[in-house]
Amino acid sequence: MSFARHSDAVHVRAPGKINVHLGVGARHEDGYHSLATVFQAVSLYEDVYATASDGFSISVVGDVDVSEVPLDDRNLALRAARLLAQTADVDQGVHLDIRKGVPVAGGMGGGSADAAAALVACDALWGTELGSRRLHELAARLGADVPFALHGGTAIGTGRGDVLTPALARGRFDWVLVLSEQGLSTPEIYGRLDRMRMRGRALADDATELLEVPPAVLQALRAGDPAELAPVMMNDLEPAAVADRPDLELALADGVRMGALTGIVSGSGPTIAFLCAGPEAARAVQEELRATGRQALHVHGAVPGAQLMG
Ligand code: ATP
Repeated sequence: MSFARHSDAVHVRAPGKINVHLGVGARHEDGYHSLATVFQAVSLYEDVYATASDGFSISVVGDVDVSEVPLDDRNLALRAARLLAQTADVDQGVHLDIRKGVPVAGGMGGGSADAAAALVACDALWGTELGSRRLHELAARLGADVPFALHGGTAIGTGRGDVLTPALARGRFDWVLVLSEQGLSTPEIYGRLDRMRMRGRALADDATELLEVPPAVLQALRAGDPAELAPVMMNDLEPAAVADRPDLELALADGVRMGALTGIVSGSGPTIAFLCAGPEAARAVQEELRATGRQALHVHGAVPGAQLMG
């Protein structure tokens, strides 16, 4: 993306996320599940460039396969721009140019990051100055993961994952991500989990009132200690993702054998996140995973949420 091409654009960068803990409760009538999760924003980014325009349009390029990204009103970033225009009575349009670094349908909230970035970019482009509380409200209307992409850092998500409480996380956590060529549909993975629970093949937390982030997870984050965090990480969606994609099990075992402290499916998958003891250990794991032909990326958390770059 050349600087000249975007010299008149507002540039916002937003991160992808990992769910360090993902507890899934009962399914509600609106189709959503109660969640108790801990998000961490990691250094894999979406860059959104917003330029003034008469109408609303979007273009998408990326370091990842972007062929499945819709370019019409199904695109979450475009919906975000329209929602902001409507809410703030703006009669201008915008062209959004998105450069994706987060895998599409990878369980890392790339679309949500685009939506958060579009909100911040359009707010700056149009001078609407809605303020973070209003932007957060709009974000929650766009999707359960959008508020966190605005917020960034490390945070506890309850409700549908959209009610955020900042979590104290000291130091830096090094992760190696293993990307998959084929994405997984989030609704399909939740649906599979529901069916598995009905058949008694996955642990159900029926007492959803008890759905909470284990204190040990929060303590390990506060301590900034990956060795303390590794044994307490868990994802209720993992059995459903692995049932859909048995190859993930082998990848999870390989990363640990190669020196990662632990591995977890990120969100609804299929991206796998390996937690490593530090930057050097992560580089070694990344290299070994690459040697087996896998696409592996070394990232770190926590990083800030959607940020105006210029
Ligand atoms: P989730 O936030 O549910 O974990 P994910 O990270 O697995 O999602 P995304 O890449 O955010 O996956 O998008 C999932 C689907 O949403 C895509 O398959 C695509 O059809 C649609 N979508 C809408 N807007 C976007 C966008 N800006 N970028 C990517 N996908 C989008």
